[in-house]
Amino acid sequence: MPRTPLIAGNWKMYLNRAEAVRLAAAVAAASQGLTDREVMIAPPFTALNAVAEAVRGTAVKVAGQNVGWEKEGAFTGEVSPPMLLDAGAEMVIIGHSERRQVFGEDNAMISLRLRAALQHGLAPILCVGETLTEREAGSTFTVVEEQLAQGLADVTAAQMGKTVIAYEPVWAIGTGKTASKEQAQEVHAFIRAVLSRFYEKTLAGRVRILYGGSVKAENVDSLMAQPDIDGVLVGGASLNAKAFERIIHFT
Ligand code: PEP
Repeated sequence: MPRTPLIAGNWKMYLNRAEAVRLAAAVAAASQGLTDREVMIAPPFTALNAVAEAVRGTAVKVAGQNVGWEKEGAFTGEVSPPMLLDAGAEMVIIGHSERRQVFGEDNAMISLRLRAALQHGLAPILCVGETLTEREAGSTFTVVEEQLAQGLADVTAAQMGKTVIAYEPVWAIGTGKTASKEQAQEVHAFIRAVLSRFYEKTLAGRVRILYGGSVKAENVDSLMAQPDIDGVLVGGASLNAKAFERIIHFT
Protein backbone atom coordinates (compact mmCIF):
# COMPACT_ATOMS: atom_id res chain seq x y z
CA MET A 1 0.00 0.00 0.00
CA PRO A 2 1.52 3.36 -0.97
CA ARG A 3 2.27 5.75 1.85
CA THR A 4 1.29 9.40 1.34
CA PRO A 5 4.41 11.51 1.95
CA LEU A 6 4.21 13.94 4.86
CA ILE A 7 6.23 17.15 4.83
CA ALA A 8 6.25 18.55 8.35
CA GLY A 9 7.66 21.84 9.62
CA ASN A 10 8.69 22.28 13.25
CA TRP A 11 8.86 25.98 14.06
CA LYS A 12 10.36 25.35 17.52
CA MET A 13 10.43 28.48 19.76
CA TYR A 14 10.33 30.97 16.88
CA LEU A 15 7.82 33.50 15.50
CA ASN A 16 5.27 35.76 17.09
CA ARG A 17 1.62 35.45 16.04
CA ALA A 18 1.79 37.89 13.11
CA GLU A 19 4.96 36.25 11.74
CA ALA A 20 3.48 32.80 12.20
CA VAL A 21 0.26 33.71 10.38
CA ARG A 22 2.27 35.17 7.49
CA LEU A 23 4.37 32.04 7.16
CA ALA A 24 1.33 29.78 7.49
CA ALA A 25 -0.38 31.64 4.63
CA ALA A 26 2.73 31.16 2.49
CA VAL A 27 2.79 27.42 3.32
CA ALA A 28 -0.91 27.12 2.44
CA ALA A 29 -0.34 28.89 -0.89
CA ALA A 30 2.68 26.66 -1.64
CA SER A 31 0.65 23.53 -0.86
CA GLN A 32 -2.35 24.42 -2.96
CA GLY A 33 -3.44 21.72 -5.38
CA LEU A 34 -0.98 19.10 -4.10
CA THR A 35 -2.99 15.94 -3.57
CA ASP A 36 -0.15 13.39 -3.54
CA ARG A 37 1.44 14.63 -0.31
CA GLU A 38 0.44 16.09 3.05
CA VAL A 39 1.84 19.21 4.66
CA MET A 40 1.93 19.94 8.39
CA ILE A 41 3.24 22.84 10.46
CA ALA A 42 3.91 22.94 14.20
CA PRO A 43 3.90 26.53 15.50
CA PRO A 44 4.69 27.45 19.10
CA PHE A 45 1.64 27.12 21.40
CA THR A 46 1.08 30.89 21.47
CA ALA A 47 0.49 30.97 17.69
CA LEU A 48 -1.30 27.64 17.34
CA ASN A 49 -4.84 28.97 17.20
CA ALA A 50 -3.99 31.92 14.96
CA VAL A 51 -2.20 29.57 12.54
CA ALA A 52 -5.07 27.05 12.61
CA GLU A 53 -7.46 29.88 11.70
CA ALA A 54 -5.12 31.09 8.94
CA VAL A 55 -4.99 27.67 7.24
CA ARG A 56 -8.62 26.71 7.86
CA GLY A 57 -10.17 25.29 4.70
CA THR A 58 -6.77 24.40 3.20
CA ALA A 59 -5.10 20.99 3.27
CA VAL A 60 -2.38 22.15 5.68
CA LYS A 61 -2.48 20.36 9.03
CA VAL A 62 -1.50 22.02 12.27
CA ALA A 63 0.36 20.29 15.10
CA GLY A 64 1.44 20.97 18.66
CA GLN A 65 5.13 20.59 19.50
CA ASN A 66 4.35 18.59 22.63
CA VAL A 67 1.37 17.56 24.75
CA GLY A 68 0.62 16.89 28.40
CA TRP A 69 -0.78 13.50 29.40
CA GLU A 70 -3.58 14.64 31.68
CA LYS A 71 -6.82 16.23 30.54
CA GLU A 72 -6.50 19.07 33.04
CA GLY A 73 -5.10 19.75 36.47
CA ALA A 74 -2.24 21.27 38.40
CA PHE A 75 0.46 20.78 35.73
CA THR A 76 2.02 24.20 35.28
CA GLY A 77 3.54 24.67 31.85
CA GLU A 78 1.74 21.74 30.22
CA VAL A 79 -0.90 21.87 27.48
CA SER A 80 -3.43 19.03 27.43
CA PRO A 81 -4.75 17.08 24.41
CA PRO A 82 -8.22 18.71 24.59
CA MET A 83 -6.54 22.13 24.72
CA LEU A 84 -4.53 21.35 21.58
CA LEU A 85 -7.67 20.15 19.80
CA ASP A 86 -9.53 23.24 20.94
CA ALA A 87 -6.76 25.44 19.50
CA GLY A 88 -7.11 23.69 16.13
CA ALA A 89 -4.34 21.06 16.16
CA GLU A 90 -4.87 17.65 14.58
CA MET A 91 -1.38 16.31 15.18
CA VAL A 92 1.38 16.57 17.76
CA ILE A 93 5.15 16.03 17.83
CA ILE A 94 6.22 13.86 20.78
CA GLY A 95 9.69 12.93 22.05
CA HIS A 96 11.59 15.51 20.00
CA SER A 97 15.28 15.24 20.81
CA GLU A 98 15.26 18.78 22.22
CA ARG A 99 12.62 17.61 24.72
CA ARG A 100 14.71 14.56 25.54
CA GLN A 101 18.12 16.30 25.69
CA VAL A 102 17.30 19.77 27.07
CA PHE A 103 14.26 19.00 29.22
CA GLY A 104 15.12 15.49 30.34
CA GLU A 105 12.04 13.75 28.96
CA ASP A 106 12.49 10.00 29.09
CA ASN A 107 10.83 7.14 27.23
CA ALA A 108 8.31 6.56 30.05
CA MET A 109 7.12 10.17 29.93
CA ILE A 110 7.03 10.12 26.15
CA SER A 111 4.88 6.98 26.24
CA LEU A 112 2.37 8.76 28.53
CA ARG A 113 2.21 11.72 26.17
CA LEU A 114 1.79 9.48 23.13
CA ARG A 115 -1.04 7.44 24.60
CA ALA A 116 -2.84 10.57 25.82
CA ALA A 117 -2.62 12.12 22.35
CA LEU A 118 -4.04 8.97 20.74
CA GLN A 119 -6.81 8.60 23.30
CA HIS A 120 -8.00 12.10 22.46
CA GLY A 121 -7.74 11.68 18.69
CA LEU A 122 -4.55 13.63 18.00
CA ALA A 123 -2.23 11.96 15.48
CA PRO A 124 1.23 11.77 17.06
CA ILE A 125 4.65 11.96 15.44
CA LEU A 126 6.98 9.96 17.69
CA CYS A 127 10.59 11.12 17.31
CA VAL A 128 13.44 8.68 17.85
CA GLY A 129 17.15 8.90 17.15
CA GLU A 130 20.61 8.36 18.53
CA THR A 131 23.22 10.84 19.76
CA LEU A 132 26.66 11.04 18.11
CA THR A 133 28.22 9.15 21.03
CA GLU A 134 25.66 6.39 20.66
CA ARG A 135 26.26 6.16 16.89
CA GLU A 136 30.02 6.04 17.38
CA ALA A 137 29.61 3.34 20.01
CA GLY A 138 27.66 1.25 17.48
CA SER A 139 24.44 1.37 19.50
CA THR A 140 22.16 3.22 17.04
CA PHE A 141 19.85 0.23 16.51
CA THR A 142 19.67 -0.64 20.23
CA VAL A 143 18.81 2.95 21.19
CA VAL A 144 16.19 3.36 18.46
CA GLU A 145 14.59 0.00 19.22
CA GLU A 146 14.37 0.87 22.92
CA GLN A 147 12.78 4.25 22.13
CA LEU A 148 10.22 2.49 19.91
CA ALA A 149 9.53 -0.32 22.37
CA GLN A 150 8.97 2.04 25.31
CA GLY A 151 7.40 4.89 23.37
CA LEU A 152 4.87 2.58 21.72
CA ALA A 153 4.12 0.51 24.84
CA ASP A 154 0.39 -0.34 24.97
CA VAL A 155 -0.32 1.34 21.62
CA THR A 156 -2.92 -0.80 19.85
CA ALA A 157 -2.74 -1.72 16.16
CA ALA A 158 -5.59 0.69 15.39
CA GLN A 159 -3.70 3.48 17.18
CA MET A 160 -0.45 2.57 15.43
CA GLY A 161 -2.27 3.09 12.14
CA LYS A 162 -2.62 6.77 13.09
CA THR A 163 0.93 7.19 14.41
CA VAL A 164 3.86 8.58 12.45
CA ILE A 165 7.50 7.88 13.37
CA ALA A 166 10.27 10.41 12.78
CA TYR A 167 13.87 9.23 12.71
CA GLU A 168 15.95 12.22 13.79
CA PRO A 169 19.60 11.48 14.54
CA VAL A 170 20.42 13.97 17.28
CA TRP A 171 23.80 14.78 15.70
CA ALA A 172 22.01 15.98 12.55
CA ILE A 173 19.45 18.29 14.15
CA GLY A 174 20.20 21.97 13.67
CA THR A 175 23.85 21.17 12.98
CA GLY A 176 23.82 21.41 9.18
CA LYS A 177 25.03 17.78 9.15
CA THR A 178 22.51 15.59 7.35
CA ALA A 179 22.63 11.82 7.60
CA SER A 180 23.56 10.44 4.19
CA LYS A 181 20.63 8.97 2.30
CA GLU A 182 22.16 5.52 2.88
CA GLN A 183 22.51 6.09 6.65
CA ALA A 184 18.92 7.33 6.85
CA GLN A 185 17.50 4.52 4.71
CA GLU A 186 19.33 1.91 6.81
CA VAL A 187 17.72 3.12 10.04
CA HIS A 188 14.30 3.63 8.41
CA ALA A 189 14.34 0.02 7.15
CA PHE A 190 15.37 -1.09 10.63
CA ILE A 191 12.47 0.85 12.20
CA ARG A 192 10.03 -0.78 9.79
CA ALA A 193 11.45 -4.20 10.66
CA VAL A 194 11.02 -3.47 14.39
CA LEU A 195 7.44 -2.33 13.77
CA SER A 196 6.71 -5.53 11.90
CA ARG A 197 7.85 -7.47 14.98
CA PHE A 198 5.55 -5.39 17.22
CA TYR A 199 2.58 -5.32 14.80
CA GLU A 200 1.46 -7.09 11.64
CA LYS A 201 3.75 -6.71 8.65
CA THR A 202 1.03 -5.06 6.56
CA LEU A 203 0.47 -2.46 9.28
CA ALA A 204 4.22 -1.84 9.59
CA GLY A 205 4.25 -1.36 5.83
CA ARG A 206 1.64 1.38 6.12
CA VAL A 207 3.33 3.42 8.87
CA ARG A 208 4.96 6.62 7.66
CA ILE A 209 8.55 7.10 8.79
CA LEU A 210 9.88 10.64 8.37
CA TYR A 211 13.52 11.68 8.33
CA GLY A 212 14.58 14.78 10.26
CA GLY A 213 17.96 16.45 10.66
CA SER A 214 19.12 19.43 8.58
CA VAL A 215 16.74 18.72 5.71
CA LYS A 216 17.09 21.50 3.13
CA ALA A 217 15.93 22.34 -0.38
CA GLU A 218 19.24 20.88 -1.62
CA ASN A 219 18.97 17.42 -0.07
CA VAL A 220 15.23 16.69 0.12
CA ASP A 221 14.95 15.02 -3.29
CA SER A 222 17.64 12.42 -2.67
CA LEU A 223 16.29 11.64 0.81
CA MET A 224 12.73 11.29 -0.47
CA ALA A 225 13.93 8.89 -3.20
CA GLN A 226 14.76 6.28 -0.53
CA PRO A 227 12.22 3.47 -0.32
CA ASP A 228 11.55 3.75 3.44
CA ILE A 229 11.65 7.55 3.76
CA ASP A 230 8.03 8.68 3.68
CA GLY A 231 8.46 12.34 4.46
CA VAL A 232 10.60 14.81 6.33
CA LEU A 233 10.43 16.69 9.62
CA VAL A 234 12.08 20.03 9.02
CA GLY A 235 13.24 22.53 11.63
CA GLY A 236 15.38 25.46 10.47
CA ALA A 237 14.44 25.36 6.78
CA SER A 238 10.71 25.34 7.59
CA LEU A 239 11.05 28.91 8.91
CA ASN A 240 12.00 30.13 5.45
CA ALA A 241 8.97 30.28 3.15
CA LYS A 242 10.96 29.80 -0.08
CA ALA A 243 13.06 26.91 1.26
CA PHE A 244 10.03 25.14 2.73
CA GLU A 245 8.09 25.63 -0.50
CA ARG A 246 10.89 23.86 -2.39
CA ILE A 247 10.88 21.07 0.21
CA ILE A 248 7.10 20.67 -0.13
CA HIS A 249 7.61 20.39 -3.89
CA PHE A 250 10.23 17.62 -3.62
CA THR A 251 10.48 15.46 -6.68
C1 PEP B 1 13.74 19.36 13.95
O1 PEP B 1 13.52 20.37 14.61
O2 PEP B 1 13.02 18.35 14.09
C2 PEP B 1 14.85 19.36 13.01
C3 PEP B 1 15.10 18.29 12.31
O3 PEP B 1 15.58 20.52 12.90
P1 PEP B 1 16.60 20.93 11.70
O4 PEP B 1 15.87 20.65 10.41
O5 PEP B 1 16.87 22.37 11.90
O6 PEP B 1 17.80 20.06 11.83
